Amino acid sequence: MRYDVINPATEKVVRTISLATEQDADAAISRAADAFATWRTVTPADRGRLLRRFADAVDADLENLAALEVENAGHTIGNARWEAGNVRDVLTYYSAAPERLFGKQIPVAGGIDVTFQEPLGVVGVIVPWNFPMPIAGWGFAPALAAGNTVVLKPAELTPLTALRLGELALEAGLPPGVFEVVPGKGTVVGQRFVTHPAVRKVVFTGSTAVGKQIMAGCADQVKRVTLELGGKSANVVFADADLEKAAAQAPYGVFDNAGQDCCARSRILVERSAYDRFLELLEPAVKAFKVGDPGDPATEMGPLISAEQRVRVESFVENVAFQGTAPSGPGFWFPPTVVTEPGDRVLREEIFGPVVAVVPFEDEADALRIANDSEYGLSGSIWTRDVGRALRVGRGFEAGNLSVNSNSSVRYSTPFGGYKQSGLGRELGPDALDALTETKNIFISTED
Ligand code: NAD
Repeated sequence: MRYDVINPATEKVVRTISLATEQDADAAISRAADAFATWRTVTPADRGRLLRRFADAVDADLENLAALEVENAGHTIGNARWEAGNVRDVLTYYSAAPERLFGKQIPVAGGIDVTFQEPLGVVGVIVPWNFPMPIAGWGFAPALAAGNTVVLKPAELTPLTALRLGELALEAGLPPGVFEVVPGKGTVVGQRFVTHPAVRKVVFTGSTAVGKQIMAGCADQVKRVTLELGGKSANVVFADADLEKAAAQAPYGVFDNAGQDCCARSRILVERSAYDRFLELLEPAVKAFKVGDPGDPATEMGPLISAEQRVRVESFVENVAFQGTAPSGPGFWFPPTVVTEPGDRVLREEIFGPVVAVVPFEDEADALRIANDSEYGLSGSIWTRDVGRALRVGRGFEAGNLSVNSNSSVRYSTPFGGYKQSGLGRELGPDALDALTETKNIFISTED
């Protein structure tokens, strides 16, 4: 089956690709299963070296990868460069892992007890369209480092950078079959990762609805699963915060990537005594937010990914307090939008577009009550000059990734993942390797 990849800023066809069938997926899984037999025996130093070469190949191709993402996903060129650089950095970080996959030596009676962190086999990585490069890298880099082979399915809408990463892996010297990229439909290729017995783990990032189906499907084979799902994160601003800074940075915390970010701070909660002042400061920042040609380095926000996504985002908008601007004409544009009297849907559902609700709160307890009144729990921010309060509120938040006086959620060397229906398990940092290995325990008798 052929599929037209569309540029969301122009609505023009960028490239037509072939979507894999179930038979194609089976063939890729079988190549990855065959490759596992040798990949797991590559010496730790050599596996690390190959991953560093892969990182170097990504670095050498950074401008090309970034340009592909601008064209395919409408990401701003600044973001797209960061995203390709993130793949390089995640590969470099995990290239040190093969030589550091330490087991334990545990004191026992009558002998010696040691543990080993062993690879699982073939790992299936399923990626959404909103951050095609980083999310792919967060799955495949630690999986490969731990000695697994990988089959990777990009989202239907955004396959181009994943296909290029597959080529770069081969150019860097990874043996064929170790990293297979299989573009196709979720219900065909993604589903096959869930049902195929040779795939021993699924790393899924996407919507909570599909994540639940994947988890249920994996239960059939007690297949390991990591889920990175939706979010409805809160940005909590106390009256004692640097309000100028909090207001100037709030738009980047929600409108980056046109709000199509699982960590988007789509609810801004402001202490009542500072509420009016905060809105006064927020309005010019939103109106000045530069929306337009994603290839222009000065642009801060590009289009939404598709016409369908724009219809969905529009369906949330009511009681608009103020809006920024967006181009007219071709492209799936939507202006940054602020809502101050949000309905229930705006407050609870993941919009995945540039729409933010700003609501007042009374005190710390009220802030936490509102922030935690969500089925999601991915990230959040706390703006205050009081360190004790920052930690108190931070510990009270039901979310996996918090930042104080900052809206940034992701560092490749620290764990990332959600509470509640935002996910299961952690990626990145040292934690990812635990989720991509089995612990084997061996007892050796020292008795005569
Ligand atoms: P989606 O769930 O529709 O699709 C995600 C991926 O799953 C795609 O590759 C799709 O083809 C595949 N898929 C769809 N149905 C499938 C099935 N039945 N079996 C197997 N695979 C299937 O999500 P999306 O619309 O591409 O992405 C947006 C969502 O991703 C948002 O909810 C967002 O919050 C979430 N997300 C979460 C994180 C995180 O780290 N927590 C990061 C980015 C995006």
